[in-house]
Amino acid sequence: MAMRDIRIIGDPVLRTECDPITKMDDHVRQLVADLLETVDMEGRAGLAANQIGVGLRAFSWNIDGDIGYILNPEIVELSEDEYQDGDEGCLSVPGLWYPTERAWYARAEGVDLDGNKVVVEGEEIMARCIQHECDHLNGMLYLDRLSKKNHRNAMKELRKQGL
Ligand code: ZN
Repeated sequence: MAMRDIRIIGDPVLRTECDPITKMDDHVRQLVADLLETVDMEGRAGLAANQIGVGLRAFSWNIDGDIGYILNPEIVELSEDEYQDGDEGCLSVPGLWYPTERAWYARAEGVDLDGNKVVVEGEEIMARCIQHECDHLNGMLYLDRLSKKNHRNAMKELRKQGL
């Protein structure tokens, strides 16, 4: 296992849709080990594979003391009437936090390394994590979901940081 460097905005891997995992080989086992180790740090809630430079559909989470991973996640349910609009941040967009609208509840289904079905679901932070990480796997960043005004301010902040 290894603690991997986090890719930062501007890196094309963050803007590339990740490929489905079709074979549970050593490469994928290593990816899972690295996702679990790299997310296991205070202040880290979730990590998508492309954030550590691997273009495969997988993410890990670290929420309320629970650390886990899912391969080939698909969002199968989002609450339609209940939303949250708290601040969101991203390890790949250092130092920024902006209000981001998300469904209050989310449920994703995928598989583990043995091919067994994995269900990850929850409200509030877990729901935000699921939606945020699945966006990553589609080459999206939470910045894409901000209001026009917040998006403009976020871009200004990034330019100030030289990103
Ligand atoms: Zn992120």
